[in-house]
Amino acid sequence: MTARRPRILAIDDTPANLLMVGAALGRDVDLQVATSGRKGLAHATACPPDLILLDVMMPGMDGYETFGRLQDDPLTRDIPVIFVTAENSPDDETRGLDHGAADFISKPINPAVLRARVRTHLTIKRQGDLLRSMAFVDGLTGVANRRQFDETLEIEWRSCRRTASPLSLAMIDIDHFKQLNDAYGHQAGDACLKAVASVLKTGMERPRDLIARYGGEEFVCLLPDTELTGARDKTEELRQAVQQLRISHVTSGVAPMVTPMVTMTLTISIGVATVIPQAELTAEGLVAAADSQLFEAKRSGRNRTCSVAFGQAKP
Ligand SMILES: [Mg+2]
Repeated sequence: MTARRPRILAIDDTPANLLMVGAALGRDVDLQVATSGRKGLAHATACPPDLILLDVMMPGMDGYETFGRLQDDPLTRDIPVIFVTAENSPDDETRGLDHGAADFISKPINPAVLRARVRTHLTIKRQGDLLRSMAFVDGLTGVANRRQFDETLEIEWRSCRRTASPLSLAMIDIDHFKQLNDAYGHQAGDACLKAVASVLKTGMERPRDLIARYGGEEFVCLLPDTELTGARDKTEELRQAVQQLRISHVTSGVAPMVTPMVTMTLTISIGVATVIPQAELTAEGLVAAADSQLFEAKRSGRNRTCSVAFGQAKP
């Protein structure tokens, strides 16, 4: 695997210092430079770097103020910052560390020290990024996990409320999953979860569409800017795609036959709810509405989609 070159942003009002940093770090890094705090912030938000080298003494917005603004922005808050302090200024060093800087380097810059500190903090940053991404992914299926779903739902709820756009949510449940586990064992159950997750994920074509594992054999799909009819069409596509996997599934007691073992194809049931978010409604309410439609889909025979416009008076 070839990792991309780490992106480093150096902010310093003295161009000679930036040249020195460039010479010390060489071609192993992708170096961006800015000659003021303001320009540095613009760079950092436009294309968040992996690490920032920040001069403390700058006219206008100094290093501390620049750092404070980086901390205030969720987009740049987690980027490690190494303060570059003037010679013999232990106060600056402790002040920077107290404020949450990753480290400091004092001037005149020693190239070997700079390289070593940068390497260390890039490693820590990479490990942190990896942990953060793992914290949002379901280990078995590789789709988003419940936590990422909860956070994304909050964000999309607010976004659709601002723009008065429809937000659709689909609860998806594998039919007769317990029987599959009982008949074929948990490994087969896991393989089935992975296969279904993969089909559902492939079906998410727009960047904001999200598929997540909600728990057990239940998945949830979030479709922002999607009307009820659009959501129904999408979930019907997903339902048919899962059916076309043709995973054979043994179940028992499918009415009216009471034959103990009936071979059938693996299917999913889906409950859809669509809302234009408003003050008197909640995201939890939308989830509950989709859940009750899922219950309805199960009750009326499974392998189908039931849907509702949430928050609208029934005609
Ligand atoms: Mg300076």
